[in-house]
Amino acid sequence: MSQKRDYYEVLEVAKDASEQDLKKAYRRLAMKYHPDQNPDDDTAAERFKELTEAYRVLSNSETRARYDRFGHQGATSGGAGYTGMDFDMDLGSMTDFFESIFGSMFGGATRRRRVRRGNDLQYDLKVTLEQVISGADLRITIPRAVSCDECGGTGALKGTSPRVCSRCGGHGQIRLQQGIFMMSSTCPSCNGSGQEVAEPCPSCDRGLVEKEEEFNVSIPPGIEDGKVKVIRGAGEHGRNGAPPGDLNIRVFIERHSVFERDGDDLVCEQAITWPQAVLGDEVEVKTIDSTVRMKVKPGTRSGQVYLLRGKGVPHFYSSGRGDLRVKIDIDVPTKLNDAQVELVEQLGKALGTAVKMKRHSLVDKVKSLFD
Ligand SMILES: [Zn+2]
Ligand SMILES: [Zn+2]
Repeated sequence: MSQKRDYYEVLEVAKDASEQDLKKAYRRLAMKYHPDQNPDDDTAAERFKELTEAYRVLSNSETRARYDRFGHQGATSGGAGYTGMDFDMDLGSMTDFFESIFGSMFGGATRRRRVRRGNDLQYDLKVTLEQVISGADLRITIPRAVSCDECGGTGALKGTSPRVCSRCGGHGQIRLQQGIFMMSSTCPSCNGSGQEVAEPCPSCDRGLVEKEEEFNVSIPPGIEDGKVKVIRGAGEHGRNGAPPGDLNIRVFIERHSVFERDGDDLVCEQAITWPQAVLGDEVEVKTIDSTVRMKVKPGTRSGQVYLLRGKGVPHFYSSGRGDLRVKIDIDVPTKLNDAQVELVEQLGKALGTAVKMKRHSLVDKVKSLFD
C-alpha cells in the first residue's frame, strides 16, 4: 500500500474527537463503503478496510495514545492490546466486531433468521402456611399455547406446507433505507419466520393452539412468600419450532388465622386467665402442626413472650426449624357474679390496692353522666 493516510483524516474527525464522535463517524462511513452496499467496487472495499483499521486503532485508548505519539509505526508495532492484530480482514470473521458496533443492522452480513422463543407464563400459586411447614406436591392446570397437532405446528393446511416468504426471501428480515442508514427489521409479512402460508390450518393460530395442561409443582418446606419457581420449557410453545418459554410460578402464602410468619419464626397469641398469670401454670399451646404443654411462670405479664424452640417454619437452606414465639394475652373477666366480685375486692384489699370506685350499675353510670 502507498503512503498510509492519517487515521483521523480517514474517519473525517478532529484529533480530539471523543469516543462517541469516532463511533458515529465510523458508523456513517462504514455504512457508505460497506462491501454489501458496493458490490464489485474495489475502491469502496479498500476504503472500508482503511476505515476499519483506523477505527480499531482509535477506538482503543491505548492504541490511540500510541498512534498519537508515534504515528502508524507506534500503533501497529508492539504494544499491548495491538500486537499481531491482522488487518487483512476476512468479512466473515468480522461479524462479531460489526455486531458490537452496529447491532444487527447488517441484515445481509448476519443473515440470521430471528427465532423467537415461546412466551413465558406467570402463575400465582396460593399455598397455606401448613403446606409451607410440611412441604407439598401440588398439581396446577394452566392454559398455554402449544404446537398444533393438526398441522404439526407449521400453521399450514394439512397436506400443504409453508413456503419461503416472498417478501424477505426467507431471511425473516427486510432492509429499509433510512436516510444514510440501512436498517433491517423484522419482515411484516412473515413476522420474522421467513415462511409464508398459502392456506392456513383451520385449527390453529399460526401453528399454535391453546390447551389446558397440568403440571406438578413441588413446594419445598420453608419456602418464602413471593418466591418464584421456574419450570423450564413449560411456557408457551414457540412458533415454527422455536423453543418453548418458561413457566414462572410465584408462591403466595395465604394469611393464617392464628399464626403470623416472621422469617422462620412463627408468632401466635396465647390467652391465659388472670389467676394463671399470677400463680403460674402449665397450659396447652396449639402449634402449627402439634400440641405442646408450656409452663407459664408465676407473675407473667400480658404481652410477655415465651419461646417454643423448633416449632416454627423449617429452614429452607438447612435442617431444623425456627421457633414459635408465644405472646401471652391475659384474659380479664368482664362478667362476674356477685360472689366473684366480692373475692376480687377482697384480693384488692389484701394486696393494698383497695378499689376506690364503688361498683355502679350501668343505669347509675348513665345517670352520673348527667349529674
Ligand atoms: Zn394447525
Ligand atoms: Zn418474510
